[in-house]
Amino acid sequence: MTEREFAIDVVTKLQAVGFVALFAGGCVRDELLGITPADHDIATSATPDDVKKLFRRTHSFGASFGVVEVLGPRDAAGEWLKVQVATFRSDGTYTDGRRPDAVTFSSPEEDAARRDFTLNGLFLDPLTNRVLDFVNGRADLEAKVLRAIGDPVLRFTEDKLRILRAVRMAARFELRVDPATQAAATAMAGDIKAVSAERIAEELRKILTNRHRVRGLELLNEFGLFPHVLPEVTDIPGRIRVVAALHPAPDITFPLVFAVLLGGVSAKGAGNVCRRLRLSNDELERVVWLVAHRESLRAAPTMKNSGLFSVLIHPGIGDLLALHEAEAVAAGDDLTAVEFCAELLRTRTPEQLNPKPLLTGDDLQTLGLSPGPRFKKLLDAVRTAQLDGEIVNHQGAVALVHRLNTEPEPNR
Ligand code: ATP
Ligand code: MG
Repeated sequence: MTEREFAIDVVTKLQAVGFVALFAGGCVRDELLGITPADHDIATSATPDDVKKLFRRTHSFGASFGVVEVLGPRDAAGEWLKVQVATFRSDGTYTDGRRPDAVTFSSPEEDAARRDFTLNGLFLDPLTNRVLDFVNGRADLEAKVLRAIGDPVLRFTEDKLRILRAVRMAARFELRVDPATQAAATAMAGDIKAVSAERIAEELRKILTNRHRVRGLELLNEFGLFPHVLPEVTDIPGRIRVVAALHPAPDITFPLVFAVLLGGVSAKGAGNVCRRLRLSNDELERVVWLVAHRESLRAAPTMKNSGLFSVLIHPGIGDLLALHEAEAVAAGDDLTAVEFCAELLRTRTPEQLNPKPLLTGDDLQTLGLSPGPRFKKLLDAVRTAQLDGEIVNHQGAVALVHRLNTEPEPNR
């Protein structure tokens, strides 16, 4: 059973006992566009209590908003099927710029009116295939227009996240933005600060990993959002050009695009941006590594192995090569360095790029040395000499240690 089939079962069961139940929002939009929806949301006249009584396995995580999750059987991949069932509602006043203070259960018309954009305000009865459109969403979808439902200034004032959702939706579905909606978003760009860093980051992730990321960035720029979301990015058009030059891999990672965007920022500065946006540790590490190494491959063909190989064996090397290529393409530079590295990665085995050490800490202790800063320096020196081919076996490594140990310490 697919999620859609399960969602139809849930609608069937609700309708059978006399409730109105419809597919709602994003999944209707996606179906009309011929896209497989990420999830199916159902809107119903049943209250959360009705829904909980009617279905055996439910979760009420959004209880105050009237949302109940109904769990089904597992799908072919072994994942539990689930749909969110939400009671038709209208949202009360907003005082925090993000969430309504209270909601009232209401009608499909009012439920459509509380949604953000016309293309997201549609309902579909999957049993009759009839679309219920109270907001003129179908016409906008066909004309490829993103339009706020109702008064755009009011809608962006209620919930500032909608400003970023507007960018994401317009980019992702290749929509032009209705002038009144665009004017309101632009006038209110500074209010995006009311939105939590996590939610801003989540929108940025979606915008930057979508294949229409360039349009998303152009809209962020047109709406005047950069100074409020990413004030560190200077030369916005220049950065967008480099993002546009990124190889169009379908599985492009967020840290890669984000690191490209932070082109003029130092590694330390990039770390601060990542912390401010509360990115995950993995994302932060990757972004900072990419920014710190963005120049590392430029001289690759003339670099010593010891310097180059440590970069080539890093798990982020694929992203770094992509970043380098995009920077070179955008600047009209040649791709010699990138091709040189790609060739090394193709022709050398992992063992050749990251060979077993000729000497370990244990070996040094056997030679009578005790762990400390000097110890680490010796190991590093041996490793460098090994990668650069200056020593090729254990004896050579031991001889090098003896030589370094009898040399006077360089002046500090
Ligand atoms: P996605 O494909 O990214 O999930 P979506 O449109 O389905 O896009 P969701 O966040 O899943 O987005 O929300 C489902 C529906 O809920 C939307 O289509 C819209 O009708 C409504 N909605 C979501 N967020 C808001 C919001 N901030 N303000 C008003 N309505 C919203
Ligand atoms: Mg959705």
